[in-house]
Amino acid sequence: MNNKTKQIGLIGWPIAHSLSPAMQNAAFAELGLDWTYVLLPTQPDDFELLLKNLSTQNIVGANITMPHKQMVMPHLDQISDDARIIGAVNTIHLQNGKIFGHNTDCVGFLNALKEAGHEPRGMRVAMLGAGGAARAATFSLAQARVDRITVVNRTVEHGVRLSEDMAKAFPACHIEFKPLSSETLSDLAKNVDLVVNATSVGMEPDDDVSPWPDDVAIPAETIFYDVIYKPVQTLFLQQAQAAGQKTINGLGMLIHQGVAAFEIWTGQQAPVETMKQACLAALGFDA
Ligand code: NAP
Repeated sequence: MNNKTKQIGLIGWPIAHSLSPAMQNAAFAELGLDWTYVLLPTQPDDFELLLKNLSTQNIVGANITMPHKQMVMPHLDQISDDARIIGAVNTIHLQNGKIFGHNTDCVGFLNALKEAGHEPRGMRVAMLGAGGAARAATFSLAQARVDRITVVNRTVEHGVRLSEDMAKAFPACHIEFKPLSSETLSDLAKNVDLVVNATSVGMEPDDDVSPWPDDVAIPAETIFYDVIYKPVQTLFLQQAQAAGQKTINGLGMLIHQGVAAFEIWTGQQAPVETMKQACLAALGFDA
């Protein structure tokens, strides 16, 4: 690597597996950019020092992943409105000695939904989960003018915080919280257009579980969207498919959050198809 090569990092701890290097490096190559996407595994204690030294390593941007998505915020010079409301930054950009923070999970979530052919406006949504992914997804759906979002979560405090924060930011959208139970889901199933799994339930290696209980019938004419991309077909999606419902996996969100980040870093239009094919190849599917 010569000293002109710009670097983009992935900062997290631990970084077990990631499709982002394959996806972003394919995009840099496609556009003829002398840029490289590198893994920067960083423990919480070393995080502040790493941020201070980024520019000395020719790093012009990074994706921020667990556990640093919230922790990074006080260290930034500017944070986008979206990221501030969501409460998490997954993309940083270094420019003129300053660090700017963004959240591209929200646009990634929404673009994947639209790419699958669904217009969110007016939908009634059940949002399972209240962590970072759920906050980004709820934000983007409220912004896209869905009719109602019911946040369903195991820990009441997290769910209430998410619903209250988003209700304040989007007063025209009806956003409420209900605790996770079969009774809550049975009740919601009577009146729902989109069910999102934004929990980590069903993610590898624990891929034999689903947040949707066996004793609750899968509602008809409902879209089931899982933000998990490993495995690509979670048990949650398999349950919905077995009941004849439409499903969306988390790969589209991953790709589109990467597309948005690429465009922030480079100022150029991302080669979406190349990024998609690189992800599929990295997952072992035929591109
Ligand atoms: P997070 O902030 O740790 O939130 C995890 C959520 O899952 C919380 O709501 C948590 O509930 C819930 N949960 C965990 N274990 C549970 C269990 N046994 N029963 C019920 N609920 C449980 O994680 P995150 O960053 O939001 O990530 C969530 C998932 O989204 C992960 O699988 C991640 O890989 C995926 N993701 C995908 C993309 C993409 O681009 N496709 C982007 C971001 C994240 P409590 O509040 O009760 O703890």
